[in-house]
Amino acid sequence: MTYENVKIHPQVDGGVKKGSASFGGGTLSCNCASDKVTVKVGAQTAHNHVCGCTKCWKPDGAVFSQVAVVGRDAISVTANAGKLKIVNEAAPIQRYACTGCGTHMYGRIENKEHPFYGLDFVHTELSSEQGWSEPQFAAFVSSVIESGVDPSRMEGIRGRLKELGLEPYDALSPPLMDAIATHVAKKSGALPA
Ligand SMILES: [Zn+2]
Ligand SMILES: [Zn+2]
Repeated sequence: MTYENVKIHPQVDGGVKKGSASFGGGTLSCNCASDKVTVKVGAQTAHNHVCGCTKCWKPDGAVFSQVAVVGRDAISVTANAGKLKIVNEAAPIQRYACTGCGTHMYGRIENKEHPFYGLDFVHTELSSEQGWSEPQFAAFVSSVIESGVDPSRMEGIRGRLKELGLEPYDALSPPLMDAIATHVAKKSGALPA
């Protein structure tokens, strides 16, 4: 039994395409027909994954988002910055969305105590360049139910993710969960800083 008809995200539904080690970044464009917001990402991304949470931006009809991180210094808005607005200023990740089309252009953490401070979140599918780091796992898989996916579909969704080589996790991947816990332990003194 295979799950090839189960849709996850347009970037992976046809199979995961490997990134290029020599790739050095590109430009993200929003989905407006004109006056597009453009964001230059001046480096290769890391930790790309598909995400089932309800906060990440997804293309129309997709069950998961696809999201990666890159150092915040690599990000610069290169056109129509005035169209950007933070979705929720109180959220740990401040997601800058285009007020014209709703696309999230980048997410930024301003809290210096946050384990992922210094990393911005980007959706590399908004770029036409090829070679971005490929998605490596699936995060917050059970959370797709919160977006209205019937629980009976979860077996197929997890089955398809495994077929694609995107190990499904109901939080982040073990290395990222370990990084968060290490950060917390160093803060509390449970581990040496
Ligand atoms: Zn737009
Ligand atoms: Zn997410």
